[in-house]
Amino acid sequence: QEQPFDIAVIGSGPGGYVAAIKAAQLGFKTAIVEKSKSLGGTCLNVGCIPSKALLHSTEMYHFAAHGADDHGIDLTNLSINIEKLMAKKDKIVSQLCGGVSQLMKANKITVFNGLGTLKDNGKIEIRGGKSEEEITAKHIIIATGSASVELPFLPFDGETVVSSTEAIAFDEVPKKMVVVGAGAIGLELGSVWSRLGAQVDVIEFLPLIAPTFDKDVSKMAERVFKKQGMNFHLSTKVTGLKKEGGKNILTAENKKGEEIEFECDKVLVSVGRKPFTESLGLEGIGIETDDKGRIPVNEHFKTSVDGVYAIGDVIAGPMLAHKAEEEGVACVERIAGEAGHVNYDVIPNVIYTEPEISSVGMTQEEAKEKGLDVKVGKFNMMANGRAIAMDGTDGFAKVIADKETDRILGVQIIAKGSSEMIASAVAHMEYGGSAEDLGRTIHAHPTMSEALKEAALAVDKKAIHSV
Ligand code: FAD
Repeated sequence: QEQPFDIAVIGSGPGGYVAAIKAAQLGFKTAIVEKSKSLGGTCLNVGCIPSKALLHSTEMYHFAAHGADDHGIDLTNLSINIEKLMAKKDKIVSQLCGGVSQLMKANKITVFNGLGTLKDNGKIEIRGGKSEEEITAKHIIIATGSASVELPFLPFDGETVVSSTEAIAFDEVPKKMVVVGAGAIGLELGSVWSRLGAQVDVIEFLPLIAPTFDKDVSKMAERVFKKQGMNFHLSTKVTGLKKEGGKNILTAENKKGEEIEFECDKVLVSVGRKPFTESLGLEGIGIETDDKGRIPVNEHFKTSVDGVYAIGDVIAGPMLAHKAEEEGVACVERIAGEAGHVNYDVIPNVIYTEPEISSVGMTQEEAKEKGLDVKVGKFNMMANGRAIAMDGTDGFAKVIADKETDRILGVQIIAKGSSEMIASAVAHMEYGGSAEDLGRTIHAHPTMSEALKEAALAVDKKAIHSV
């Protein structure tokens, strides 16, 4: 292989592989280094995609078991085959990971399989995979992603105490599962196994589930998920796991300081993710990580070492696939001397439960903390025709706008399919739209999105279908 490469990317997740494609499109001779056999990173292999595949399958099962009858659909003798369910998910994952390989080929990107370690002067040593060699590149982009956070008093054992990686691949439905942490991953995978019949107890240290959303959204989510069968233990601190008479007992302390116990066969620890920089050789080339293990970068994604950049979960900001992708594109554009840019104020965030919980921009509470004067419009899905027609009346849309300028500061939607609805709010915010702009934008009827338009109208008390 003729060297040096113009750009070499370490890590093939959504940040890394998108950066590599952008680099190739801009005419750079590009390489990508990936330690895992399959390309696509956390997102495609063990994150976004397999979790969404399982959410889809189990939502259908749950409907068949609990909703179909109401529609006159008779599904007596219903059963679930976990092996087939997992095979379906694995097929989706391999289709998408194979797709990334094809994209690398189509864009003439050289793929190296092995663990990449940074050496001085633009060198990357590749070991432990199919490619045992050293490559050189003028620009190196680190996109090594993140790993699950472990609790010191509840270490992962891969069997009973597991991370999301194992929880997307159980070979049978656990009878009793404890989920530690009520963020996106905990709520999504808790929903998956609860729908299949597991008793799911979610333990959260904070007083609310989905704590990055506004209180009214979190409260509604808790109410709906409780109805679906999940149990929540809020303001509760997990303290450890013990074995008693062959049974696993998870111990915790509730808000009154009392010890409570949960018998369980699986414990999913989903308390967050941490940047992954192991074996990358950062110290060797003089890059220091911050107090959270992240690689510090400037607004051009440059690290403290010339010619070395970092993007995605391994740097500051929300750990989301689309944030990593945008940074990948912007970083390469900056290397090319173009004006790459990521608008960090307008990054959508979604929890793919049923209903889905979606947001963009500031929450009402954040706006208040910033001392902003806001007006808020809310519209209940109960008053939306499409929601009624498709059993989707649990939820609401909420628009937060600046009181003086009417500019939209944030939007939150809890509703069936709100991950798609939020896109229109994102577009309005990207162009600095006002609540009136959104309220005057024609939305097809009947659609769930009309609730977003109505919430925007409600900002000035002009909603049409509100009683
Ligand atoms: P990653 O996707 O983590 O990729 C990093 C890659 O680098 C990996 O393939 C790794 O093997 C490789 N690597 C690491 N070190 C080296 C090295 N030294 N040499 C060579 N290769 C190396 N985000 C969303 O936006 N939407 C979702 O619905 C969503 N769902 C999720 C569900 C779960 C269960 C999980 C765990 C995460 C989810 N995420 C979701 C988060 C999302 O997966 C990450 O934000 C995203 O993958 C980050 O992309 P990245 O490119 O920074 O890193």
